[in-house]
Amino acid sequence: MSFRRTLSIISVLLTVLALSSAVSVVLRSNYLDQTVSLLRANVESVRVGQQIEIDLLAYARSSDRVVLTLFESDILQELEMARQYVTTEGENQSLGDAERLIKEVFQMRRSRNILPTELGRDIENALSDLRSFVNVNLSQAHQIENDVARVNRMVEQLAIGVSAVLVLGVFTVLVWLGFAFRPLFGIRDAMKAFAAGDRNARAPETGMQELRLIARQFNEMAEALARQRENQLAFLTSVAHDLRNPIGALKMSTAILDPSKPLPHEPRIREILGVVGRQIDHLNRMIGDLFDAYRIESGNLELSFREIDAREMVRDCYELFRHVSGTHQLSTHVPPVPVRVRCDAGRMSQVLNNLLNNAIKYSPKGGPILIRLDARGDQIMIEVSDKGIGIAPEDIPHIFEPFRRTRHGGREIPGVGLGLHVVRRIVEAHHGRIEVESRLGEGTKFKVWIPTNSVN
Ligand code: ADP
Repeated sequence: MSFRRTLSIISVLLTVLALSSAVSVVLRSNYLDQTVSLLRANVESVRVGQQIEIDLLAYARSSDRVVLTLFESDILQELEMARQYVTTEGENQSLGDAERLIKEVFQMRRSRNILPTELGRDIENALSDLRSFVNVNLSQAHQIENDVARVNRMVEQLAIGVSAVLVLGVFTVLVWLGFAFRPLFGIRDAMKAFAAGDRNARAPETGMQELRLIARQFNEMAEALARQRENQLAFLTSVAHDLRNPIGALKMSTAILDPSKPLPHEPRIREILGVVGRQIDHLNRMIGDLFDAYRIESGNLELSFREIDAREMVRDCYELFRHVSGTHQLSTHVPPVPVRVRCDAGRMSQVLNNLLNNAIKYSPKGGPILIRLDARGDQIMIEVSDKGIGIAPEDIPHIFEPFRRTRHGGREIPGVGLGLHVVRRIVEAHHGRIEVESRLGEGTKFKVWIPTNSVN
């Protein structure tokens, strides 16, 4: 589970909770508004109904015709008012009946010219309808009261439920945060230990996806730094070792030419000078590689492009290495027509020399070495293959890394692990690529592809 996902789920839950609370508050306040206006109508109906009852009773006892007329007018107005507050069919019915009876009483009094005391029975009927109108309103008010109490109970329960969910949610989130962030302390401790010099300190890759990722990235970085350190130490050892070998050879050679001793025969001298020359070449190449690596890493590799026939470059290289080893059989395979390419001829020769030098170095028992040149569309391909010790599959992805050397099956083959790094950078600076095919114990084939018209 990732942080982002968990936080999204929590946000959605909180939003749903907040929305439902807001909706229930709005619904409740609407309901209360409606209830209040219904209740007001009921109260008003009861008040007006009772007022009509009182007026009707007073009317029934009165004998003054002017007062009677005034009562009739008041009662009719009050009936009109009562009608405004009618909200149900029951109320409408009872008010309608009372109104009809009251109007009949008024009508009879006028038409027969009698006093209301003579209409006692009809007035009693009208009063009874008026009472039922008041009762209907009272029971409605009672009903509303019950409904409000019920809704209040429901809202209370809802509020308690929402609060409980919120408290539980906050508690769960706090507990979850405690668990979720625990690996962070592991990462912090690992970083502290690493900074304090413990190169083996690694962060635990546990917990949330993001934390696992951070831990993995830290571990990879720590691994890379540890490897780099190892490589640098190995590099220093190799440089020291590689310097000691040629210097030892030079020392031995010059010891033979000691001025206090007679000079050896000419063939021997030539042999010694040959050894000295080869050791100087070796030292030269090593120092060149170191300088090139420095230039590449600091971004100062300058190329000067010109058009050449790549066949000449291959032939020159072949001539250079033809006599280097008596146990290797060098051969070339080049097209019969010129292979035109725009490149830095010096740097491309360096690539080829490096590959050939490696082919010889890493086939210590000797054997065939082939340099093949091919033109393929708008690219040229230079291939160097040997039948030497080969490279283990797990080492292949790393051979172009600086200071990276394989184990060479226990053989002591000199080198500092910079040649192929420099080669790849030069090829890439020509917008080309280098590929390797190798089988342990069977040999290796490097293929370099560069465009015929690489732009500076
Ligand atoms: P170096 O030769 O100085 O060690 P390179 O960068 O030239 O450094 O090569 C890196 C590694 O690649 C070598 O240490 C060797 O293990 C492997 N390698 C390169 N060329 C060959 C080859 N032709 N055959 C076998 N292994 C090779």
